[in-house]
Amino acid sequence: MMKWLVVLLMLSAPAAPGQVLKIYAIDVGQGDATLVVSPSGKTLLIDSGGSGKEAPISSVLASAGVSTIDHYVTTHYHLDHYGGIPGLAANPAITIGQVHDRGDTAFLPVDKRASSSFRAYEKSVGFRAHHLMRGETIGIDNLVSAVCIASGGAVLGEPDTHTTGLDENDMSIALLITFSGFHFFVGGDIERPTEQDITAEHLVQGVDLYQANHHGSESSSSLAFLSDLRPTVVIISNGDNSSYRHPRKVTLDTLAMLTPPPVVLQTNKLFKVMSDGGNVNDRFIADPETVDDDGTIVVTAGLSTRTMTVSYRDTSFTLPWKEGAAEPAARVVIEKLLPDPAGLDRDLEEVTVRNDGTAQVDLTQWYLMDAGGSVWSLSILGSLAPGAAGTVLRAGMAMSLGNEGDTIILFDGDHAEHDRFTYAGAVEGVSVVTGH
Ligand SMILES: [Zn+2]
Repeated sequence: MMKWLVVLLMLSAPAAPGQVLKIYAIDVGQGDATLVVSPSGKTLLIDSGGSGKEAPISSVLASAGVSTIDHYVTTHYHLDHYGGIPGLAANPAITIGQVHDRGDTAFLPVDKRASSSFRAYEKSVGFRAHHLMRGETIGIDNLVSAVCIASGGAVLGEPDTHTTGLDENDMSIALLITFSGFHFFVGGDIERPTEQDITAEHLVQGVDLYQANHHGSESSSSLAFLSDLRPTVVIISNGDNSSYRHPRKVTLDTLAMLTPPPVVLQTNKLFKVMSDGGNVNDRFIADPETVDDDGTIVVTAGLSTRTMTVSYRDTSFTLPWKEGAAEPAARVVIEKLLPDPAGLDRDLEEVTVRNDGTAQVDLTQWYLMDAGGSVWSLSILGSLAPGAAGTVLRAGMAMSLGNEGDTIILFDGDHAEHDRFTYAGAVEGVSVVTGH
C-alpha cells in the first residue's frame, strides 16, 4: 500500500519547470508595451501603450501571474509608449517599483510638457523616475539583466551629447536584455542616427529577438544595423488602422534581405496598407482579422534547452538560441586620473577605468602605461561588470602620473590598446576627468 502511494505521488509531481524567461509583446494596437518575466518571477515592463491601454496590459499581467512591476521603463515621451502607466499606477492591485525614463524633460516643447497626458504621466510615475543613462544596467535578477545601450540620443561609450533638436523618437532608451546566452534588443522608437551610432561601435551583435524599432517604420531598421543584430525572430508591435502605416513595406523588404532571413511577426494586421504600408503573411500576424487586443505574442526562452518558443493565437513554434554569436568586444575606457594627490604621489596617485561594454571584462592581465613605458597592473580590479568603474592606486608601482602632464595608455592582456588620454597638468587633490 505504502509503496503504491509513493509511486503515485511521484507520477503526479510536476516536471521540473527549468529556468525560463518570458517576454510578452502585448497587443496595445499602435504603440509598445513589452513585459519581461524573469525565471525568479521578477518583472520589467517596457512602455505601456497608448492612452487607456492599461486594460490589455493588466490582463497580460494577470495571465502571467504577476501583480508587481519591479522595473518600469518609458523609452521616450510619446503617448503611444507611456499612455497606459497612469491607469496601471492607479490600480490598487498592481505595485510599480523602480521607474526609469530618459530624463531631460527640459528639452520637450512647452505644449508637450503642459499637455494633460504628459502631466498625468509625471504625476503617476514620471516625477520619481530615475534618469537611465547609456551604460547603466538594470539587474532584473541574478540571471537576467538589461543594459542601457542608448538614451537621449547618446549611445554606450559616447560622451554626453547636447540633445537639443534631436527627434524625440531617436532619443528613446534602447535596452539589450540578456539571459545567459539569450539576447533581446528593444529600442523604443530609435531611428537611423542612433542606429548608426550603435552600429559604428558594434554594440549589439547577434540577437535572438529584436522588437522592431519604431513599429517597423521606414525611418528605422536600417540594413547596416540589422546586419549587426542578425535577429532570429523580429516582433513588430503595430496597430491595425494607424495613419502611420506601420510596418512599412520597405522595412519588411530590408528584413527579408538578411541571411538567413528572420521570422518576422506582427501583433496586428495593418488594414491601412495604401501604397507604402505592408504586412507579413497572415500566418505570422497574431491578430489578423480583428481590431481587439488578442494579438499578444509570447516568447519563452528556456535555459536548459537553449531554445525559444514563440506563441500567439493557436500557433506555437520553437527555435534554437543563436549560439556562438560573437561576444561584443571588450570596451573599457580611462574615466579619470589623480596625478597629484594630497599626499605621497608614489602611493596615492590613482586611475579609474570604466567598463563601457555589454559584457563582464576580466582585467587581471590588463595594464596602464605612461609615455615613458612604465606600467601599472590592473589585476587588483579583477572583473568589471558592464557599466562598472574601478579605481587602482599606484601603491608603489613604477608608472608615475606626471604633474606637468602625461599620456596614459590602457592595454589588455594581448597588448592591444583600448584607450589613451593626454593631459597638460594637474592641481593637487583634483582628478583629471577624461570625458571618455
Ligand atoms: Zn511609438
